[in-house]
Amino acid sequence: MNANGSTTPSDFIREIIEEDLKNNKNSSRVHTRFPPEPNGYLHIGHAKSICLNFGIATQYKGKFNLRFDDTNPSKESTEYVESIIADVRWLGADWEDRLYYASDYFEQLYDYAEQLIMKGKAYVDDLTPDEIKGYRGTLTEPGKESPHRDRSAEENLDLFRRMRAGEFPDGSRVLRAKINMAADNINMRDPTVYRIKHAHHHRSGDTWCIYPMYDFTHCLSDSIEGITHSICTLEFEDHRPLYDWFLDELGVYHPQQIEFARLNLSYTVLSKRKLLQLVAEGHVRGWDDPRMPTVSGIRRRGYTPEAIRDFCTRIGVAKRESVVDIALLEHCLREELNLRAPRVMAVLRPLKVIIDNCPEGKVEQVEAVNNPEDPSMGTRLMPFTREIFIDRDDFREDPPKKFFRLSPGREVRLKHAYYITCDRVVKDEKTGEIIELQCTYDPQSRGGGTPDNRQVKGTLQWVSAQHAIEAEIRLYDHLFTKENPDEDADFKANLNPDSLETLTSCKLEPSLAAAKVGDRFQFLRHGYFCVDPDSTAGRLVFNRTVSLRDSWAKIERSMGRQ
Ligand code: ATP
Ligand code: MG
Repeated sequence: MNANGSTTPSDFIREIIEEDLKNNKNSSRVHTRFPPEPNGYLHIGHAKSICLNFGIATQYKGKFNLRFDDTNPSKESTEYVESIIADVRWLGADWEDRLYYASDYFEQLYDYAEQLIMKGKAYVDDLTPDEIKGYRGTLTEPGKESPHRDRSAEENLDLFRRMRAGEFPDGSRVLRAKINMAADNINMRDPTVYRIKHAHHHRSGDTWCIYPMYDFTHCLSDSIEGITHSICTLEFEDHRPLYDWFLDELGVYHPQQIEFARLNLSYTVLSKRKLLQLVAEGHVRGWDDPRMPTVSGIRRRGYTPEAIRDFCTRIGVAKRESVVDIALLEHCLREELNLRAPRVMAVLRPLKVIIDNCPEGKVEQVEAVNNPEDPSMGTRLMPFTREIFIDRDDFREDPPKKFFRLSPGREVRLKHAYYITCDRVVKDEKTGEIIELQCTYDPQSRGGGTPDNRQVKGTLQWVSAQHAIEAEIRLYDHLFTKENPDEDADFKANLNPDSLETLTSCKLEPSLAAAKVGDRFQFLRHGYFCVDPDSTAGRLVFNRTVSLRDSWAKIERSMGRQ
């Protein structure tokens, strides 16, 4: 526990906040925000930022705002706004009645811009975008002042008002802050404050044809909302002097910007621009494709908000960039689903087994526990019959060493039912493919043991052929084949061609007939699965959320050994 009595581990941001509280800064208020631009769907990196900002607000009994940073109408849409609201809510963050839009501040921001002009701190520039770029200089060379830099306040005000009135075409003029063209920090070389863009905005419609730039909008929106700690990712560190400059020049309430390292995850990309490319070019089925690292994608895949929050707590917050192993995310999910997902039997690649000494037409109900981790989840009955399906992978005609599952002459246990022995392999005469196994069962082995305490090594899942439900199951692998897909010029060259495998004739135990979209199960020995929205009344579709193999546990063990 830290000083605040919370179990959340402390970090450098929480230390800053605790120091501020001690010094009664901001009258000991804590107010954070999550400020997405509605130009794409949220990804797991955004989830880290949401958990951090909302987590801090909750921990210090403060407030949390959701604010759309919607200043770029040509890339933004209400579809994105709606998906972001749904995702933030699903993650469990609560903004109460504080849902804001930077576009709601456009009039006030415009007033602030006029104030800068009147103070001689902003000017209208007629240089072309290319000229502005050329005049900006480089990291090693100072920039050059625009010939329009010393216009009078009156002239600037007149031009700026005419920009607003729509007198000028896109790109013909901009409003710039008058700071220092020789500043070491390029962001301080008279950055653009407003640009002309005759574009329809998803909220403000056609009211505006000039739009404020991010750096100007962001600090002032924070200030308007009374944000105390404006937490953002490291790429904004170089923008902080500008954040401070605008607030100081305008003499308004001044929140503190604090930067932390963004989340990077192995085997995926976390950039809205790149994720948009994957969607637009059809490499995935949409923003919510279960292979995508988007919040909607991992939700559809079967992740729980609890697992994502646990993951965000474990990775913590730091000042230095790093790449988190995707195995840790999967580990957090397994830990949770292990406790709450009922265990059921499913056969992914079915192989028919006939139990010769079991009478035709006989249906025997065997009892199965729903979750050995949690007895309160109870038991269910499963029909056992003469014809069943087992997984093809659970049989080898010619078993290698250490293969303990079924093979000719071998006895194995059917989970919750009986021991069976394989007597005969039936093959297709033409192709040689195994089409059926003929077995016998030991009626004395019901429930998994025999009076003579005979040992069997393998235990297999199975379903009654007559009662099985047929389903489609989608198995997923990493979206990219490389740990760092960005290591090559074209990240798309590293897309994994085998990231999706669709199995269409899987056989599930009959209790799954009642499964609803979003329900999660452990399919014994196969992993955790979730009902996909593509399911129809007659046909269930499942996503494999994550397999049972836990590579993170292995990594942890090997770290312990070092
Ligand atoms: P992207 O880089 O994916 O395009 P972005 O930064 O442009 O993301 P915004 O909508 O501006 O997307 O992000 C909203 C907030 O989420 C910002 O405060 C940003 O710092 C934070 N954020 C974005 N990506 C990450 C990440 N990978 N890890 C942590 N926070 C992130
Ligand atoms: Mg951004």
